[in-house]
Amino acid sequence: MAMSLVNYSRPRICIRCVREGRTKPEWDVFGNLACPDHLAYLVDECGCRLPATWFRRGPLRCKCRRELQEDLGRPEDVLLRTSQLFSDLAHGRPPAQDAAPIEGVEAAAKLLRFCAAFDHDPGWRATYIGKPSARNSRTAIQKASPILWSWPEGLKCWLDRRRLASEGQVSLNLAYGRLYESMRSTLDNQGLRRVRAEVNSYFGACPEAVFLKNRAMSANIMGSRQSYVLTQWAAKRLGVSSKAVARMVESGQLKGERRAGKRRRHYLVSANSVNELHSRMRVALGFRQVAESLGIRPEELTKLMEERVIAPFFVLGTQSLFDCCDVEKLAARLAKVE
Ligand SMILES: [Zn+2]
Ligand SMILES: [Zn+2]
Repeated sequence: MAMSLVNYSRPRICIRCVREGRTKPEWDVFGNLACPDHLAYLVDECGCRLPATWFRRGPLRCKCRRELQEDLGRPEDVLLRTSQLFSDLAHGRPPAQDAAPIEGVEAAAKLLRFCAAFDHDPGWRATYIGKPSARNSRTAIQKASPILWSWPEGLKCWLDRRRLASEGQVSLNLAYGRLYESMRSTLDNQGLRRVRAEVNSYFGACPEAVFLKNRAMSANIMGSRQSYVLTQWAAKRLGVSSKAVARMVESGQLKGERRAGKRRRHYLVSANSVNELHSRMRVALGFRQVAESLGIRPEELTKLMEERVIAPFFVLGTQSLFDCCDVEKLAARLAKVE
């Protein structure tokens, strides 16, 4: 097992198991905090706050000469189930029916560690590298553990909750932040291949993922570091037709490129340029609104546009959108003239 997934510096024990003369190798697997046989918490420190090192005086005796004490209370069910899963995987027993299809205890610990660390700020991760006590890691493990259960709903729920608040993002990187990329590298593990397939199909079904459907194309996109979306999604985002998006790419109003497809050509549109245009459109003024706010007649505005005194930043059919700032500047100029 990878060194980092085993807790060598702070051994954990089930006091009741030790009293019965048993020790279990899976106690020290990352995220294993309970004994499912005794419904007891694993213990890794003495009342004197010293960690229970391997070099203690006896199996249950701390350097301070006191006996290690049980941590009273029944562990949370999810912690018990996770410990049971580690135990089953470690001893080659078939895991519970609704457990995630993970091969090997190491792969399970790796996934759990990723999920526990993901929700915590870098400060927590720093302390966790310095190994927090079993007691201090309970909350994080409890929050991450459901990913191993109610397969695949537990995983989907966990992913749903990590979606960033805003809706209608144009790329997975925008919708899920660093989760999307960092999870892909964690799942690059043979024992997690079925989890990886499920995560891929989850992300593939997101509306932001339209561009992933064409494999060859997404391979090109991934290499270029820019995120691109297909015209359909850009169109949905901007509230215009796909044809209009294509025209905007051709005219340079949106950044993107044309790709020759088998039957017809399609366009890849830069997610950033779609977002920029979208936020500009949200605060834009229409033709009539501009005329009204300037206190001029529509014909006068048309004349000003012909004279290129003001130009819309967006034109689609008969619809024109003007930037508020441009309108304000013009209003100031007109006020001076008067
Ligand atoms: Zn036990
Ligand atoms: Zn002690």
